[in-house]
Amino acid sequence: MYCNKCGSYIPSKRTVCSNCGAPVPDPNAPAPVVEPEPEKRPNGIAVAGLVMGIITIVLCWFPGIPLLTGLLGFIFSIAGIAKKNARSKGAAVTGLILSIAGLILSVCALLALIIPGVTKYLAAAEEAKSQMSTMGLVWRTWIR
Ligand SMILES: [Zn+2]
Repeated sequence: MYCNKCGSYIPSKRTVCSNCGAPVPDPNAPAPVVEPEPEKRPNGIAVAGLVMGIITIVLCWFPGIPLLTGLLGFIFSIAGIAKKNARSKGAAVTGLILSIAGLILSVCALLALIIPGVTKYLAAAEEAKSQMSTMGLVWRTWIR
């Protein structure tokens, strides 16, 4: 056999190279097994999470819809991240961030929409109450 290091011929039974002194590989030792990189599985759910995250960000000002897409994006992205030996992990992480950001934004947008409405409703209710009592007063005065 030949030396791995210098390439000179080594008679069998010798354990070191007579030329350079490098140890001779044991011919009976099993060849080192190179683990083939396992092919990564496609990760459709991660891509779905990313798409949902983008939709959530784009529609975050829209009442209702982004809450649903954000929740789906959150679930899909986590499923994509959790999927073992799969591609598109980066997409899943981006989808998760976009979904969370989109959810926060859409909740803020929803609150901005609801709060003036609630204030208006309370003011209207107060107004109605005072009108009722005025009417009651008029009614009582009238039937007397
Ligand atoms: Zn050698």
